[in-house]
Amino acid sequence: MIPYGHQSISQSDIDAVTAVLTSDYLTQGSQVPMFESAVATVTRAEYAVAGNSATSMLHVACLALGVLQQDIVWTSPITFVASANCALYCGAKVDFVDVDPLTGNMCAIALANKLQESKKQGCLPKVIIPVHLCGHSCNMDVIGALAKQYGVRVIEDASHAIGGQYQDQYIGQCQYSDITVFSFHPVKIITTAEGGVATTNCAELAKAMVLYRSHGVTRDKDMMLRPDEGDWYYEQHFLGFNYRMTDLQAALGNSQIMRLDEFVAKRNQLARRYHFLLKDTGVEFVSPLDNTLSAYHLMMILLPENIARKVVFDAMRAAGICVHVHYFPVHLQPYYLNLGFAEHDFPQAEHFYRHCLTLPLYPDLSDEQLVFITETLKGLL
Ligand SMILES: *Cc1c(COP(=O)(O)O)cnc(C)c1O
Repeated sequence: MIPYGHQSISQSDIDAVTAVLTSDYLTQGSQVPMFESAVATVTRAEYAVAGNSATSMLHVACLALGVLQQDIVWTSPITFVASANCALYCGAKVDFVDVDPLTGNMCAIALANKLQESKKQGCLPKVIIPVHLCGHSCNMDVIGALAKQYGVRVIEDASHAIGGQYQDQYIGQCQYSDITVFSFHPVKIITTAEGGVATTNCAELAKAMVLYRSHGVTRDKDMMLRPDEGDWYYEQHFLGFNYRMTDLQAALGNSQIMRLDEFVAKRNQLARRYHFLLKDTGVEFVSPLDNTLSAYHLMMILLPENIARKVVFDAMRAAGICVHVHYFPVHLQPYYLNLGFAEHDFPQAEHFYRHCLTLPLYPDLSDEQLVFITETLKGLL
């Protein structure tokens, strides 16, 4: 079976993890701060805070921005459930902004209209979470300007997008957002097995995320609220979590991040091959905006209206090609239907979902495999 995504693990990756395993610290050693600084370097952000998953860091990002029970958070319906769940963890309400029909990313026009409407009704969101689907950046200058105009904070869910660029900015640089979150799950661009990082340029937000990641506990002498009791003393200031990344994970990340540019270049090269081999077949490509570099986490196409996606999907799987569908719209998940969402709430997202198909894309995918995939698909169309 050709998977839809797969990690690329080198001997250096294995050696890096093994070295930690035989060292004194399996967690809370030097690897995590090194990984944080490596992510800050590649994204050009001031601060990077590592945790045990992107899901955890999305939660911590919401907490740092002060998302509370009465607040509202908006995200895209075409995403993994974590982009929405993070707000529910804070007790906030979630709503969605419909997507652009071609990119599947949060539609800037739909966002503008929804902001205007909700301002009238006095129910503006506290935070919006655009998602860079496939690694293709959202229209961040427009989203950022709207957020500023309405006093809304922005968290970029860049789980798919490390190593990408938007105009002359690196994804994670936070030019148009407060915080950007990356995932290092094995199918993503680089991996720590499980893991996530949040970047920001705001010292206060970085400090808050560090505390929320680690029980709300500090050992920083300058932050103590009570008199110091001695070297063993630490203080808990609010209710945090154990969302820490281990040094084993960070060592893998430190080794993987050295190949980030190579991975992104290879993914783009394979994407161009797909475009070339599938042109004139009637499929639409879910493509990055001009003036961006996509990390190309996913190779996504939209099948023509008259093609039954399930038939193509099942036949590709039967041929040993693990195509996938990203994503079943979050608002149609049974849990979200129970919260009051319904079919037809976000028609563009539902239409996108019905026609999208994810083809295999990962650095070690061979050209023979890629040709086999495109020939099989062409035969079915
Ligand atoms: C993978 C993913 C997440 C969650 O990442 P984890 O590191 O697995 O928690 C969140 N949002 C999007 C868009 C993702 O693809």
